[in-house]
Amino acid sequence: MVSKKGVSGMENEQTILIIEDEDRIRRLLSIYLERDGFHIIETDNGNDGITYAYEQSFALIILDLMLPGIDGIEVCKAIREQQTTPILMLTAKGEEANRIEGFEAGADDYVVKPFSPREVVLRVKALLRRSHHLKSTVQDKPVKNVLAFDHLTIDNDAHRVTANDVEITLTPKEYELLYFLASNQDRVYDREQLLKEVWKYEFFGDLRTVDTHIKRLREKLTKVSEDAAQMIVTVWGVGYKFEVDDL
Ligand code: CA
Repeated sequence: MVSKKGVSGMENEQTILIIEDEDRIRRLLSIYLERDGFHIIETDNGNDGITYAYEQSFALIILDLMLPGIDGIEVCKAIREQQTTPILMLTAKGEEANRIEGFEAGADDYVVKPFSPREVVLRVKALLRRSHHLKSTVQDKPVKNVLAFDHLTIDNDAHRVTANDVEITLTPKEYELLYFLASNQDRVYDREQLLKEVWKYEFFGDLRTVDTHIKRLREKLTKVSEDAAQMIVTVWGVGYKFEVDDL
């Protein structure tokens, strides 16, 4: 592990874990992210990456897809078993299938190599904004942006989801998917629409990414409230909707 001190005096004290076997890319990303005040921990292999992710809580993880030994997909799955930390994947051109696998494994966003480091920094910031790790910045808002249902409450300012008053920890994409559906209740969306709305990409692809996330969402909700889980409704042959029982 190489740990470097971030530039002090800047607004950002958050730590990012970079798992990437190419020294050049790791160094480039570190330079740019540290310039923005992030603290960087880096490793060139998946095993150490998983260990660090388990031992420490990171604001975000940048994960290369093609790693020697255990690859990015397996690393992503392993991290997801314990953590909801936002994961940004680095993929190479022509790895479309792997990218989709990455989403299924729980990655929240990806950047295609070769990339400009500035683009990565922007993606990192966007992901952090969307994730609950920056929730403190919006708590002063006078009007709360809350979707409240009988068994489920989504506080979009705090990015906090509770079912029967128990907090449910979601990954950024699981949260966005739930929030999108809940904000548009009783409207049916097919998988392609959800990919566009939630993942913001039009890729040819495997719509299973949506199914996988719906499945995980339901599992997490079911553990706390069967009623909350049942609000996500499968419309056979079409897609999904968020249904509110008015009774
Ligand atoms: Ca690589």
